[in-house]
Amino acid sequence: MLGVTIIQGIGRSSSMIMKIKELHVVHKSKFQEIIIAEIEEFGLSLILDGYIQSTQADEFIYHESLVHPSMVLHPNPMKVLIIGGGEGAALREVLKHNTVNNAVMVDIDEDVVELSKKYLYPIHQGSFFDKRAKIVIEDGKKFIEEAESGSFDVIILDLTDPYSSDIAKQLYTTDFYRKIYSVLTDDGVMVTQAGSSFFYRDVYMDVYQAVKSVFNYVLEYQVWIPSFGYSCNFILGSKKYNPMMLKPEDIDTILKNRNVTTKFFNGYKYLSFIYGGIY
Ligand code: SAM
Repeated sequence: MLGVTIIQGIGRSSSMIMKIKELHVVHKSKFQEIIIAEIEEFGLSLILDGYIQSTQADEFIYHESLVHPSMVLHPNPMKVLIIGGGEGAALREVLKHNTVNNAVMVDIDEDVVELSKKYLYPIHQGSFFDKRAKIVIEDGKKFIEEAESGSFDVIILDLTDPYSSDIAKQLYTTDFYRKIYSVLTDDGVMVTQAGSSFFYRDVYMDVYQAVKSVFNYVLEYQVWIPSFGYSCNFILGSKKYNPMMLKPEDIDTILKNRNVTTKFFNGYKYLSFIYGGIY
């Protein structure tokens, strides 16, 4: 018997049907529809406007792949900015680095943050309450426009996809990346999640070209996320350090020296990122 199901958007005309075990929240915020549910095979999950954002079963693959390449490329990331990341998992990964003394997370939707705090502890694991963390409820575009130059060593853009809700679209543009560039320190590193280059190649290429037009070094990589139904793309931009020069053994040493434990990411995974190609 087909019980309650969720239709997870994948491409323009492709979806995945997932069986819901328990529905915790269905809420329309000022910005998006928020669902928090227990999904068979994936566990506790956050869904925004019909797109899966994080599931307990595989979010670590996404968040470790999003956060750690940029954090290990920078030799001493102390001040880190996350834009988006409402469920607190990118923040959790950033705070693992013992170099970090100031992690600012800016999300436009207070309801996502408050509902995540309440229902998604297995995902945020208390990151919101770390004394180094500062949570700001604001449009990331406005925050960046008002931020001082050279404020952050690493900036992580963990936004909804560039082709889903309208609220994030302006944060995938050349103009926005130029502002990110100035808010970064002279040796700063930025990374953005960029959805699927397979199902939305046109949109993805626009984002890639936008990053490429601003940063000296650009690395694109992707990783399969079972609950997304596609390989999720990431685009890293670096002002000074060449991401192709990072060696696996150096990455593992950096993670060890910074007391960073991971379930998925390591030096050899990074090799698969840089030589894995994009499709
Ligand atoms: N892991 C997800 C993925 O792979 O697509 C993204 C994580 S997170 C849930 C996406 C967050 O971006 C949401 O909490 C949403 O509120 C936030 N967001 C969207 N547009 C934003 C904006 N303009 N400024 C700040 N946060 C924004």
